Amino acid sequence: MSTSGLTEDFWTAVGRRELVRPVCGDCGRNFFTPQVACPACLSENWTYETSDGRGRVYSATVVHKPPSPGFAVPFRLGIVDLDEGWSMLAELVGGPGERLPAIDAPVHVTWIEREGRVLPAFTEDIS
Ligand SMILES: [Zn+2]
Repeated sequence: MSTSGLTEDFWTAVGRRELVRPVCGDCGRNFFTPQVACPACLSENWTYETSDGRGRVYSATVVHKPPSPGFAVPFRLGIVDLDEGWSMLAELVGGPGERLPAIDAPVHVTWIEREGRVLPAFTEDIS
């Protein structure tokens, strides 16, 4: 499978604002980013399944240097541990006071547009 083939279905799902992740058909492991083989058992028998998009902040930081020209800074970036047992790096948006969420704060997926492209992001749950 080519690299673009690996991620094409992910981005297609994102385009309809659906978050998906690879789930191994042999050992059941959830993983991300998409890879040819399951990182736990090396099986290539995995499929994308829909995530409920709920998780907790594993780490969070503020980015002050734009990743490309025209990108608005600062923005908040975090690693989110999804409830299904996988994690992803994404922008953190909204939330109380637009501040950096606490480690382990509960978050859920939301959708943002950056440079004309829809991207998954996470926002803090209102408690
Ligand atoms: Zn596996």
